[in-house]
Amino acid sequence: MDHAAIIGLTVPAVAGCMCAIFLSFWYHNRKDKSALKFALAFLMSAVGFSLNHFVIDRETLANAVAHNTIYSIGFYLLIDGIHDAFGRRTPKRVLQLLGAGSVLCACVIQLADGGLSQRILWVNMLHGSMLLVAFANLWGIWQRNWTGTAVFASLSLCILNLVIVSPVNVLGQTITDAGFFGTAYWRAMNVLATFSVLAMGGSLIAVCVVSRLNDLRADAENDYLTGLKTRRAFEEAARHYCGSRSGEVAASLILIDLDHFKEINDEHGHTVGDEVISRFGAFLLDNTRTSDMAGRMGGEEFCLLLPGTDTTGARQLAGRLRETLGKIEFSGLPESRRVTASFGIAELGKRTAFGDIYPQADAALYSAKTRGRDRVVCAPPPNDAGDPIRREIYLALPDGSRISPNRIAS
Ligand code: GH3
Ligand code: MG
Ligand code: MG
Repeated sequence: MDHAAIIGLTVPAVAGCMCAIFLSFWYHNRKDKSALKFALAFLMSAVGFSLNHFVIDRETLANAVAHNTIYSIGFYLLIDGIHDAFGRRTPKRVLQLLGAGSVLCACVIQLADGGLSQRILWVNMLHGSMLLVAFANLWGIWQRNWTGTAVFASLSLCILNLVIVSPVNVLGQTITDAGFFGTAYWRAMNVLATFSVLAMGGSLIAVCVVSRLNDLRADAENDYLTGLKTRRAFEEAARHYCGSRSGEVAASLILIDLDHFKEINDEHGHTVGDEVISRFGAFLLDNTRTSDMAGRMGGEEFCLLLPGTDTTGARQLAGRLRETLGKIEFSGLPESRRVTASFGIAELGKRTAFGDIYPQADAALYSAKTRGRDRVVCAPPPNDAGDPIRREIYLALPDGSRISPNRIAS
């Protein structure tokens, strides 16, 4: 194998490594379809370059078809995967037309004996057009985060190679099969293609890693059964809220614990118990403001942080949650079986920390339990309470309709 041909191995080798990396991303997270598309795109790039340099005679129809089909599919998968990763809709029809157009164009030029230079020129322009369509469609991702900037820069490098550098090296040249490895086109294309594969591969690896980290963080912060915040995420957010509020505006905490939940598990099974927990989480979300924060603190214990709400407002909300809960039928439970809960409320003073308010709400909850359950107990309001924000508290009824509390007889 001569020196030039060994240089030609660089792109397939780098693209092959990228393919293996993205395959392993996909293997460990089968939901990540963009990683699979990237793996196949780099595989196409590796195979295309290998075919071009080592297997098929370049000036044949077979080469024109095989080489350009593989590249068109590769560019298509790459662009489609990037669109998936950044939540954009792929302009599939335009890309398919341009990809098919490049194969057709290569065949026509080959059959018409138009020469290798013409083929390279037109095919590069058509593949470059696919990337230009992606460039226009993905416009703005570079502002989103650093991985978006890296992908956009890599895309620009590929376009530069296909639409500007390659044509400049081909125009006015007569490239033949025999002298192919000696051309400026081949040298420039290999150098830029190596950089492009490295840059694109590297930035897409960053996209996959960041996306996986975000998934893991979401898993750690969201309870899988209810979708509410996990205890850790709730406490972190609540600590941050309590530490950063001015204290001028009131805020309260409600701790909720389902009553005799063990009986539900024992009598109807854990699956039904899980269903009740899951439904109760949705019930809390449906019946609180978007500015409120709900968390599952463990088992069948929940917590609500209510910015802008004083003891009176929190007692109103808890009372209505308690009443409405008593009317809900839970799937898996007999019609007559009602689920009840106990509520402990504590209001924050101007400078109360989360670590101080939580035990107060817990003590109120304990008191609700010892007084017979299915009730609301409030800790004494602080002397330095903030002002409540008067807003409508919406309440979803069991039939799915929503009414505002001032239409409910209290
Ligand atoms: P109380 O009225 O005093 O709160 O009585 P309780 O039975 O609700 O309280 P206890 O804390 O004794 O029991 C809670 C039960 O919740 C025990 C545990 O098996 C069950 N549990 C905890 N987490 C889950 C879960 O994720 N799914 C199900 N199905 N049950 C759970
Ligand atoms: Mg309980
Ligand atoms: Mg409990």
